Amino acid sequence: MDKRLKPCPFCEGDARLALWGQYRVYCIECRANSGDYLTDKEAIIAWNQRAYENQS
Ligand SMILES: [Zn+2]
Repeated sequence: MDKRLKPCPFCEGDARLALWGQYRVYCIECRANSGDYLTDKEAIIAWNQRAYENQS
């Protein structure tokens, strides 16, 4: 699968994957985040889906 992180849908900032007990993808600029997931894969999918949904 594609593990690249899309840029933030809100500010185009860089996204990072973090592990705080659970995995979360967050924007280093505005702190938007994907929510917490048990696996990095789920967090990345959630982030990229959100980025896609917010494109217009
Ligand atoms: Zn952002």
